[in-house]
Amino acid sequence: MQIVRRVLVTGAGGFIGHHLVKDLRRRGYWVRGVDLDPPEYEPSAADEFQVGDLRRWEDAIAACEGVEAVYALAADMGGMGFISAHHAQILHNNSLINLHTLEAARQAGVSRYLYTSSACVYPEYRQNETNVAPLREEDAYPAQPQDAYGWEKLLTERLCTHYRDDYGLQTRIVRFHNIFGPLGTWMGGREKAPAALCRKIAIARLTGNPEVEIWGDGEQTRSFCYIDDCLEGLRRLMDSEYSEPLNLGQDRMVTINELADIIAGVAGIQIRKVHVPGPQGVRGRNSDNTRLRQVLGWQPAISLEEGLARTYAWIEGQVAAALGSPVATYTR
Ligand code: NAD
Repeated sequence: MQIVRRVLVTGAGGFIGHHLVKDLRRRGYWVRGVDLDPPEYEPSAADEFQVGDLRRWEDAIAACEGVEAVYALAADMGGMGFISAHHAQILHNNSLINLHTLEAARQAGVSRYLYTSSACVYPEYRQNETNVAPLREEDAYPAQPQDAYGWEKLLTERLCTHYRDDYGLQTRIVRFHNIFGPLGTWMGGREKAPAALCRKIAIARLTGNPEVEIWGDGEQTRSFCYIDDCLEGLRRLMDSEYSEPLNLGQDRMVTINELADIIAGVAGIQIRKVHVPGPQGVRGRNSDNTRLRQVLGWQPAISLEEGLARTYAWIEGQVAAALGSPVATYTR
């Protein structure tokens, strides 16, 4: 196994990138982070943090200089509300980010490159029911991702494969399935379902109003993976010799209504769900972890209840602090 010591994390100001920087530093790597902005909730642990825009070629070159491995996480993204309403922006920005970062890495002589793709690459026609079959990696084709976000992810997966075949860059491709945890966006429009529900339930608990809005009928299904498992999977995949796309997520499927009930249980309150119109994404989605187990000899182990307990505690603290502030305003 090749020993890599100097690494770049793109998107290091974001949720997973910030946790990844901390994890890599703990494990003894020299880490450079790059992002449009530093992390929002605590300082970055990176040895060097570049504020940069990877849509700009010069910033991509500067970011990749002198590193041996790249974890490519930078993306213009958010939860369903965001990715279903910003197709042109997402396709434009993320294409530029990934075209530049991959080519800059090649020119800088980077030996390993891990690209963070998404379960959003899977075709809509396999996700039309709540009780769907778990998605295997080969199910991505024939391609019909739901949104521009998914199409761009699929294109960059192909780009990674061609850079491997044509230029010898060792690429790794991970398809995340709904990663959640503390220190992630929890309000403002880009937050995902677990964080949004933790926020709404924290507001319910702190204000005594039990009504919690859920987009759609709440019967849409997903699986959710806690951040610490995500970091373990990333480490194992980067160190592996496997270069095809690999799912990384939990394979326990729950409805959004069930997710809300688990969080309400963690918060220790009864809630009244109010179903309202809103973007729901595909009807059902789950990860098939057969290949994950084969390739990495491991699978995510932290239970949804445990992960949500840790996440809820952090988000309730954020909500309480903001509610106590005279400038904070909330919409449910
Ligand atoms: P995030 O939004 O918290 O982090 C992404 C970071 O990229 C942000 O900090 C953002 O500022 C940065 N960024 C955006 N445009 C940039 C630019 N032009 N130049 C430099 N940086 C830029 O998202 P995350 O949840 O940490 O996701 C990390 C990666 O994993 C993304 O590629 C995302 O698509 C992928 N992913 C995440 C999930 C999930 O459940 N969180 C699921 C599937 C895929």
